[in-house]
Amino acid sequence: MNDSVFNLSQQNSSVDAKIVAGLERVGEVFRVLLWQQSRETGLSPIQIQVLLFLAFHDPVKCKIGYLAAEFNLTKPTISDAVKILVQKELVERIVDSTDSRSHSLRLTPSGQRIVDQTGNFANVLSQLVGQLEDAHKTALYTSLFSLIHGLHQRGLITVQRMCKTCLHYQFDGQIHYCGLLKIPLEAVLLRLDCPEHAAL
Ligand code: SF4
Repeated sequence: MNDSVFNLSQQNSSVDAKIVAGLERVGEVFRVLLWQQSRETGLSPIQIQVLLFLAFHDPVKCKIGYLAAEFNLTKPTISDAVKILVQKELVERIVDSTDSRSHSLRLTPSGQRIVDQTGNFANVLSQLVGQLEDAHKTALYTSLFSLIHGLHQRGLITVQRMCKTCLHYQFDGQIHYCGLLKIPLEAVLLRLDCPEHAAL
């Protein structure tokens, strides 16, 4: 196990290992912050994540199957989480007008209030990022974008709505371009979660 990033001899002699260890710490912060919200609302972390997803995404994506893929969970696990949200009257099911066997999920006013209460749970990170110099932000975002794309290509992040996986994305070796919005995309304009994304 000498090559483990958690082996401190290895970690302290490799910037790659230190970056991976740093990413693990940041991921841990999200977990801690979500659990804080969980204690305050009486909802599980995944239930809060589902509410936040429903609040900010198109109704065609607000279905059990899509949510399961989004959060890398099984359909029964997401169904159980949604069942509780429906019982608590935070979410309602809307039957598809063209297929009565299909339905999407929508926030109720009570669900929206939970979103208003919990939606800024990651703001402490936004504040810290906001203090970085612009050049550092650009470098950090570019690196994260590449890492996320690489993880998607390896099947570790399933659903992606980022430019590099979009039908409208073009790259001539120098300039990124959106064929739909008809704009060049500087590094910081590349999107991770685009409402207009069209899967390849
Ligand atoms: S439609 Fe959105 S995801 Fe697709 S290339 Fe344009 S900005 Fe990127």
